[in-house]
Amino acid sequence: MRFGAHVSIRGHIYEAADRAARLGCECLQIFVGSPRTWREVHYLPDDLAELRRRCRAFGLRPLVAHAAYLVNLSSEGEVFERSVRHLAHALRTVEQAGGLGVVAHLGSRHDLPVSRALKRVAGAVRRALADSDGGWVLLEGSAGRTLGATFEELRAVLDALHGHPRVGVCLDTAHLFAAGWDLRTREGVEATLAAFRDQVGLGRLKLLHLNDSRADLGSGLDRHENIGEGRIGLEGFRAWVNHPELRHLCGVIETPGFDRAGPDRANLRRLKRLRDGRQEP
Ligand SMILES: [Zn+2]
Ligand SMILES: [Zn+2]
Repeated sequence: MRFGAHVSIRGHIYEAADRAARLGCECLQIFVGSPRTWREVHYLPDDLAELRRRCRAFGLRPLVAHAAYLVNLSSEGEVFERSVRHLAHALRTVEQAGGLGVVAHLGSRHDLPVSRALKRVAGAVRRALADSDGGWVLLEGSAGRTLGATFEELRAVLDALHGHPRVGVCLDTAHLFAAGWDLRTREGVEATLAAFRDQVGLGRLKLLHLNDSRADLGSGLDRHENIGEGRIGLEGFRAWVNHPELRHLCGVIETPGFDRAGPDRANLRRLKRLRDGRQEP
């Protein structure tokens, strides 16, 4: 498995690659604007080409974007329209920079029945894909309080999109754990992947988020912790990152950091030691 981090695009967007390289990343994730506003940032083609060039030079692959927090693909009215536009814009931006695609949450359904909400998500994804030439939409599994906490819900969106060739899934270890999947042991990891294989299919799994969980098993709460410092623990991550069916993937950390300044070198070093089979992380 290759490891990377969510890094800031402060300054010029291509400086994200320098930041990732300094942390020891092998892949990276960015926002393509401020995650807390709807403002669309249109980058100069030269800046996106420079980001592509730096990722290649530093051996960072893939580059992925994470959709803004305001996006709710199952909403209605203005928020729905803005969410579709944001997703399409993020896809076009990351594609121009040579990236893989955009990670998106399914959203909160509010009063809508689950099946209708999932159809709205599929409709939003279909429109964003139609409005962009390349790049994958990576549907992220949730911790429990929002849509996408079960593999059946992820499957339902994929089914509604009739196996669209640009739709994949991103699994987050902290979300899986909070949603009730016990990743603390090798057996738990096997059981989780067996269910995913059955209900979604490993071919759709394109990206991993590697975060330990401050919240309890099955709590439904999304609380990230540093690798090995949360409820999942090092043995669970050892089994996860070395699993033969996950080894070809990239895992991105969104951990708070040991000095609480965001994803850091120390978390990546831990993961690399687990991957390389060294005893003391
Ligand atoms: Zn996410
Ligand atoms: Zn999370």
